Amino acid sequence: MQIIRSVAELSSYLDQHKGTVGFVPTMGALHDGHLQLVKQAKSLTDTVIVSVFVNPTQFNNPADLEKYPRDEDGDSRKLEGAGCDVVWFPEVIDLYPGGVSSDVYDLAHLERVMEGEFRPGHFQGVATIVDRLFKFVRPDVAVFGEKDYQQVAVIRRMSHLSKHTVDIVVSPTRREESGLAMSSRNLLLSDSFKKASSIIHIAMLEIRASGRERLVDECVSEVKSRIAQAGLVPEYVVIADEDSLEPLENWGDSKAPRIFIAAYAGDVRLIDNLSLN
Ligand code: AMP
Repeated sequence: MQIIRSVAELSSYLDQHKGTVGFVPTMGALHDGHLQLVKQAKSLTDTVIVSVFVNPTQFNNPADLEKYPRDEDGDSRKLEGAGCDVVWFPEVIDLYPGGVSSDVYDLAHLERVMEGEFRPGHFQGVATIVDRLFKFVRPDVAVFGEKDYQQVAVIRRMSHLSKHTVDIVVSPTRREESGLAMSSRNLLLSDSFKKASSIIHIAMLEIRASGRERLVDECVSEVKSRIAQAGLVPEYVVIADEDSLEPLENWGDSKAPRIFIAAYAGDVRLIDNLSLN
C-alpha cells in the first residue's frame, strides 16, 4: 500500500496505474464500517484509493472539529489489512488553495431537513470537499455508508451538478453487537454512554416492528422519550420518505419510510437511520 500526501504524488500514481479506480473518502479514526466500504470498493474496481482528511468546512462547531479523533498510523495499518492500494492524507493547501471555505451548491430541501436543519453549512462543506476529492481522484466508483443516508443524497446531487460520472455505491450500516452504529465518534463515549446509546437502534427496531399500529407523530414522540429516558438528549427524530427525504404526516404518504435520529450522548452527537420496511 502506498501512502500519498500531495496531489502531485496522487496524479503521478494515477498516470502510472491504468484500470478502474474505486474511492472511499473518510475522516479517519477508522473502524470496521469504513473497512467494509474499502472491501466493497476493492471487489468492484482494480485500484482502491482511500482519503483520510478531517474536513474543516463541514464542522459547524469548532469544538467538535478540535476533538475529532485522529490516528494516522492506526488508519494506515487497518487500510493495508483491508486491501487498500493507496491512502491519501491530503494537505489543506491542496484542497483549499484559496482559503478554508465552502463553495455554494444548490442543495434545495436537503439543506433544510434533519442534518441540514441542525448543522447549518455542514452539507455545503461536504459537497465542496467531495467535489474537490472527486476532481483529483477521478474515480469510476465511490463507496459511501448508509449510516450517513442524507449525506449520500447530498453527494448524488453535487455529483450531478458538477457532472461527475462516478458510480455512487452505498454500503449498509455496520453496527456494534449492541446495535450502536459504528462511528469514529464512539471513541469519545464513556462506557456508560456507550451502553445507553444502544437505545437508538432498539427504539428504531421497535418502530419498524409495530409503528404502523400508531400515528407517525406518536411514534416520533415515543422514540424521543425512550431516548431521553436512557439519558441521551434527542435533537431530532424524523420519519421521512427515503427517496424524497420529506417528513411524513401519515404512513400512507410513503411506500418506503425511514426513521432518522440525531441525539447527544453527553457532548457526543450521534446519528442513525433505519428503513422501516
Ligand atoms: P466518516 O469518516 O465518518 O466521514 O465516514 C466515511 C465514510 O464511512 C462515509 O461514507 C460514512 O457513511 C461511512 N461510514 C461511517 N460509519 C459507518 C458504519 N457504521 N457503517 C458503514 N459505513 C459507515
